[in-house]
Amino acid sequence: MKKIALILLLSITMSWLSSCDEKDAPSVVFTALIPDEDMSSQRPGSMIKDITMSQGINSFNLSARWKDGDVIQLFVRQGGKIYQVENLATVFDISADGKKCSFNFTMPSLVNESLEYEIIGVTGIDAHIEGQNVVVNSSMKRIPLENGNTMPSPMWFIINKTNLTTGNRQVQFKHLGTYEVLSVNNNSTSSITFKHCGFFSYTFPWYLIDGSIVIGSKAGTASNDTEQTDVQSDDITIAPGAVGAILSWYIPIGRHITLARLHAIIDGQEMTSIDMMRYSKNIESGKAYYMQATWDGSALYFSNDFCPDGNHPHAIDLGLPSGTKWACCNVGANDPTRRGGYYAWGEISQKDRYEQGNYKWWDNGDYTKITKYCRNGDFGVVDGRMELEPEDDVAFVNLGTGWRMPSRQQVEELINNCSSSWMLSNGIPGRVFRSNINNELIFMPAGGYFNGEYVRDYESTGLFWSRSFPTSAPYLAHGLAFSGGSVGWAKLNNLGRHNGCNVRAVYVGQE
Ligand SMILES: [Zn+2]
Repeated sequence: MKKIALILLLSITMSWLSSCDEKDAPSVVFTALIPDEDMSSQRPGSMIKDITMSQGINSFNLSARWKDGDVIQLFVRQGGKIYQVENLATVFDISADGKKCSFNFTMPSLVNESLEYEIIGVTGIDAHIEGQNVVVNSSMKRIPLENGNTMPSPMWFIINKTNLTTGNRQVQFKHLGTYEVLSVNNNSTSSITFKHCGFFSYTFPWYLIDGSIVIGSKAGTASNDTEQTDVQSDDITIAPGAVGAILSWYIPIGRHITLARLHAIIDGQEMTSIDMMRYSKNIESGKAYYMQATWDGSALYFSNDFCPDGNHPHAIDLGLPSGTKWACCNVGANDPTRRGGYYAWGEISQKDRYEQGNYKWWDNGDYTKITKYCRNGDFGVVDGRMELEPEDDVAFVNLGTGWRMPSRQQVEELINNCSSSWMLSNGIPGRVFRSNINNELIFMPAGGYFNGEYVRDYESTGLFWSRSFPTSAPYLAHGLAFSGGSVGWAKLNNLGRHNGCNVRAVYVGQE
């Protein structure tokens, strides 16, 4: 029997080692790499071992290191058969930074080392042989991450003997799961207890990775799309003003997750959010997904996941009586939290300066000489127009048929059928409108308005043009206005039509 030693190394430093019982054993050096990468919200999906997370309001850093007691289960595949290495290999020689270690193992006696074979290593999760495959249990883990809690990160690797010549060899661990980080900011004055729950549906019972490792759906008995397994985390309690987080790991067998939700006890009241992840997510192995919740004293809001995918704009169905749908993001924005463009009312392009003198529909900047959209002779040529025509509607011009700037009625319908709350979404202040009818959400950032050469009231006020304007004072236009404390239909009284405001389109279908 021969003992083969593997050295796991994070850096590119070449290391060596082979300790052998028999003199004729090949001398082989393994250098196993785990990419030296934090798993952050910007760069998800690194390959890591034991995870710890440092928390911040809007940032997360996951890092990993080997620690005493970590073990690696090894298998050898040869001639269509798989042999399990008897004992778990325990890591040793862990480096000071925790990212480097070594381990030994004994080759199964049935393996002929003069022929081709593969070494399969699995760590962070139980593995065994079923048929011709290495199988790992797909049970899910959800733990609070605080005070240095760690969670093992399942990884695996395969070494092909055909590449296994004497000398330095490189082994790369591959990631075996998906991470989900839920962070809750407690902005209230009482403590919050919560746990993370979710239904996981399995579309098929087995999942092959690289044709070599099979993950069995042992955690749930579900074997088709309609059956689901409910998984819950431990409770975590967050003090007032503090941030708490739960890290979840699972294998995306069915490749999607539905009804992820937060169960919370706040001020003694139990509540369950069902819209933490409102869309069935296509999830990829080896990636991290982040959700952030804010408790504002009366309701829980989740800052992510306003859209089913990245193909904006989406027409969000809030279940409104008129059938009107609202765009997920502003005209000119590529994300619900972005401000997008600022437009003077009835203009379809942006400018460096927004002032009376360069406003399109006033003669020589004179607001009493309106050249289009006027129903009051004191302010210009009466043309009887009640609202912006499509050619002057920046939503229609930018987004095409079916999209318009909202009418007064459509803005009022939104306000009357939604409850809204001030919140931060990815650090951007704004208001989230939650439908009282179907709980769908849209987020509107507080982009302020453009006057002269400056954006004003940025991050404190949201001002969105409608396509309507008042009869008596046609130099103004209507819109939706909100701040931290209020929301409503507004004449935008202090804003003449020449100021630049954001525009949130509505979708009314093909007319
Ligand atoms: Zn969208």
